[in-house]
Amino acid sequence: MKNYINGTWRDARSGRTFSNINPADHRDVIGAFPLSDATDVADAVEAASQAFHDWRRTPAPKRGDILRIAGDIFARRKDELAAIMTREMGKTITETKGDIQEAIDTAYYAATETRRLFGYNTPSEMADKMNLSFRMPIGVCGIITAWNFPIAVPSWKILPALACGNTVVFKPSDDSPHSANIFAEILEEAGIPPGVFNVVHGQAEAGSAIVEHPDVRVVGFTGSTATGTAIASRCGELNKKVSLEMGGKNAQIVLADADLELALEGVLWGAFGTTGQRCTATSRLILHEDIHDEFVERLVRAASTLIVGNGTLPATQVGPVINTKQLEKILHYIDIGMGEATCVLGGKRDTDGDKAYGTFVKPTIFTNVSRAARIFREEIFGPVLSVTKCTSLEHAIDLVNDSAYGLSSSIYTRDVNAAFVAVRELETGITYINAPTIGAEAHMPFGGVKGTGNGHREGGWTVFDIFTEWKSVYIDYSGKLQRAQIDNYDN
Ligand code: NAD
Repeated sequence: MKNYINGTWRDARSGRTFSNINPADHRDVIGAFPLSDATDVADAVEAASQAFHDWRRTPAPKRGDILRIAGDIFARRKDELAAIMTREMGKTITETKGDIQEAIDTAYYAATETRRLFGYNTPSEMADKMNLSFRMPIGVCGIITAWNFPIAVPSWKILPALACGNTVVFKPSDDSPHSANIFAEILEEAGIPPGVFNVVHGQAEAGSAIVEHPDVRVVGFTGSTATGTAIASRCGELNKKVSLEMGGKNAQIVLADADLELALEGVLWGAFGTTGQRCTATSRLILHEDIHDEFVERLVRAASTLIVGNGTLPATQVGPVINTKQLEKILHYIDIGMGEATCVLGGKRDTDGDKAYGTFVKPTIFTNVSRAARIFREEIFGPVLSVTKCTSLEHAIDLVNDSAYGLSSSIYTRDVNAAFVAVRELETGITYINAPTIGAEAHMPFGGVKGTGNGHREGGWTVFDIFTEWKSVYIDYSGKLQRAQIDNYDN
């Protein structure tokens, strides 16, 4: 397995590689991928810089035609790609298909946008003069991503960046490199010219080389808050545009008047879908005291029936966690939780049968979690749910907002007034009413406040603000010098 640079498949110049391992079965080595360094990144950036010359001049709707074809190919290869993704990052086939569907939606959406990419014109303050503004591509975009959405998250950045006329150097996570190569195959087949899209595999060294390269003008990052903020501070020093999608500590509120069955379905999906490894996963459940005990009882009963296993098996509902390091981190947090709350389900690694060969954790629920608890405050990124009691809507909102993160939130209630108060008061980039904290759609702005982001939004129309710069144009057809602010006012 190789890097994809300037339309060709290449090893790392150093010849170094890393292994890609199936998290459901560590005996299954998927392949060796290039462990790239700054020299490989330099090759890719050079190819992307050269390709930018023609790509930015290609009419935007023509670029859109290629993206639409890419969407068709993603759809055609959906089953095959879903199997590849599940093998390398573990989530169930149903979920990897959903991941690909997001890329298909994004491809069609970005393609359509290439016929808009609206600028605007405004009246001039002078006679016989016209003002207009339009979006320009920026140049080479460095895209660095996590592994939990190996196709969807890169597609949110890469496809709009290409639609705008930028070129891309993509450094996928070393836990999901195979999916990235399929991404490249699909764009190549769709007709993306050599150099417009490049994949450089590797770890922090390659990611850092992208950030540092002087010809990379924009960095689009999805990953942990620690890595993202370090990248942002470096981009600040280098005066580069940077868009960050980082960690979360998302909460679902259930008020006393809620449809409890619906709220139960919601939290099971939000907390244990993707094995809790979504930036939007429900990791905190805030229950009104009147329904707390009954809801916990129903929740524990339902969660104890979840089937943990290899994501390729049709019955599996909860796949493995991504790797040994993450397993250890989750088990460490479970240990911490044992000391600060009450474990009512799970609380350990799952090594039943063949699961001993992988990295599985039993769905875990803690109750009596105080707002001071570390498991209430820190991102765990695994199938671990903290339950906290609230006494009112205001109390619930205060608990949700008592977080360093601000990605997604959810409230279950039949009271329309309570729902609207929650929409206004919850300090998150996304709020769901009577739905779980997960479920973003491609045509809506996506991102978070506080420790989750830096003010940008992917998805929808807002992503085009990340990947374009504005040009303002003044066209004077008066045939004489007209001095703005001076000739049309008495001085
Ligand atoms: P991570 O920060 O360890 O790695 C993310 C990417 O950054 C990887 O490609 C990695 O190789 C690269 N990287 C690491 N160090 C780097 C450096 N110094 N310079 C440049 N690149 C570097 O994150 P992870 O463990 O892969 O992913 C899990 C995290 O991602 C969680 O915190 C999760 O919440 C977050 N996430 C956020 C979103 C979102 O949209 N907000 C989506 C998915 C995942």
